[in-house]
Amino acid sequence: MIASSIIEEEAVERTVEDVVCTFCGCCCDDLIVSVKGNRIVDVRNACALGLSKFLHMNENRLLKPKIGRSTSAKDVSLSEAVDVVVDLLKNSCYPLFYGWACTSCEAILLGLDLAEALGGAVDNTSIVCHGPTILAGQELGLITATLGQIKNRADLIIYWGCNPVEAHPRHMARYSVYARGRFIEGRRMRKVVVVDVRRTPTARVADLFIEIKPGYDYEVLSALKMLVRDLDLEVDEVGGVAVSKLEELADMMVEARFGVLFFGTGLTMSRGKDKNVEAAIELVRYLNFKTKFVLIPMRGHFNVTGANEVFTWRTGYPVSVDFSQGYPRYLPGETTAVDILRRGECDLFFVVASDPVSHLPRRAVEHLNNIPVVALDPKITPTVYISDVAIPVAYTGIEVEGSVYRMDTVPLRAKKIVDPPQGILSDVDVLKMILERVGGRM
Ligand code: SF4
Repeated sequence: MIASSIIEEEAVERTVEDVVCTFCGCCCDDLIVSVKGNRIVDVRNACALGLSKFLHMNENRLLKPKIGRSTSAKDVSLSEAVDVVVDLLKNSCYPLFYGWACTSCEAILLGLDLAEALGGAVDNTSIVCHGPTILAGQELGLITATLGQIKNRADLIIYWGCNPVEAHPRHMARYSVYARGRFIEGRRMRKVVVVDVRRTPTARVADLFIEIKPGYDYEVLSALKMLVRDLDLEVDEVGGVAVSKLEELADMMVEARFGVLFFGTGLTMSRGKDKNVEAAIELVRYLNFKTKFVLIPMRGHFNVTGANEVFTWRTGYPVSVDFSQGYPRYLPGETTAVDILRRGECDLFFVVASDPVSHLPRRAVEHLNNIPVVALDPKITPTVYISDVAIPVAYTGIEVEGSVYRMDTVPLRAKKIVDPPQGILSDVDVLKMILERVGGRM
């Protein structure tokens, strides 16, 4: 221990530039990371969330494979853990593979191959965030743009049902409100609107804040659709908002040269869900008869967008894919992980890069008491804690490289900066070992 700290003290500090932050969907790719020995000692350009991930990645770390739940768990070797996982998979009639938001596209592809080889189901975490955006996009299409276009051109920024100051802290500085673009020089050339059910920290920077009643997004969007088409509203208020205020917003939208509507789970996961997003898409459609307008979902985890992309390349469907008939089927509300779990249909739950015990509904999580659970994760999470087999893996974008997709579907290459702890492999390597043993495509 003393020897290793002396070696670290003597190690030369090196700097890695253009590092992609693998925390939120902004995937900021301008981080400068200082490394001494095999330890990250400083990170420049990251926000507090990104900085915390890089500097505290070894806290609460899962360092050994384990078999057995919670307090009865015992440490085993990697090959023993893989043997148990392969046996469980071979004896399973309908395994469900879930997660994929915090790993690379390469790992996600292997997860899809495993599900196909075993005739199981596979789903990603977008079912609990922007699943409704996917459904609405399939109905109507998304009128969208890259964050680079927003930085260079957008003079009206609307944040609806999202709070980037706290959830995507560099979004406004790097891509929207404060960003110095080619044609727009920064904050003074942009107008900012926040629509939410409460005055969030993001609302403090807005030129116009519209506070709507919880659950009334659809009504407010419908009213705006009428106003931008110069139709009269025969009421004084909609969703708790005075019509005069909505008229002000409609005028700002029509007068913008390039507007963007960023929307979050406040829109997608409140009453109306995909119908809310459809209303937002229709509003943007009408606006495009008068000016240029786009909408972009604020995606949460750094590669949840990549999960949708990879699912689509491989199966034709972005989420909730079932292979039980030997070909991919997509039936939202039936082949969705929450529904499969709630109906108690799957007989094995295999989690990669996610913590469903913390974020899925209680009735879905309850079924995990009845079936084996396998987890691949760098950290000890509540899901790892209740897993029958947990295998530690390296951090994507810190200890292993990999491809990820930013929230606007721009692909980026996340770098390897330091080595993982001894004996810990990437999830790609662990999934390959398992796939080889169950006889899947490689
Ligand atoms: S905004 Fe997101 S991607 Fe950018 S540094 Fe912060 S956590 Fe990382």
